[in-house]
Amino acid sequence: MIKINYDKCCWRDGECTSCSCDEECTGCLEACPVEAITRDDKVIIDNEKCIDCDACISACEKGALSLE
Ligand code: SF4
Ligand code: SF4
Repeated sequence: MIKINYDKCCWRDGECTSCSCDEECTGCLEACPVEAITRDDKVIIDNEKCIDCDACISACEKGALSLE
């Protein structure tokens, strides 16, 4: 099961709040092979779809994702 730390995730209230990137952070969304990650106001992980591949963890430069 993937857990997200919303204090570390730079996507908040529907926008990227990172000071270190010019564009919206899409690392975790693009990395996921099964489209288990969606984003509106915040990033949501659908653990029913997730296959525990870890791709999103290494893709997230903020260290916001972890495997439990
Ligand atoms: S562990 Fe893999 S399948 Fe699960 S949310 Fe992350 S990228 Fe997607
Ligand atoms: S890659 Fe990390 S910081 Fe960026 S939206 Fe995903 S969880 Fe948040």
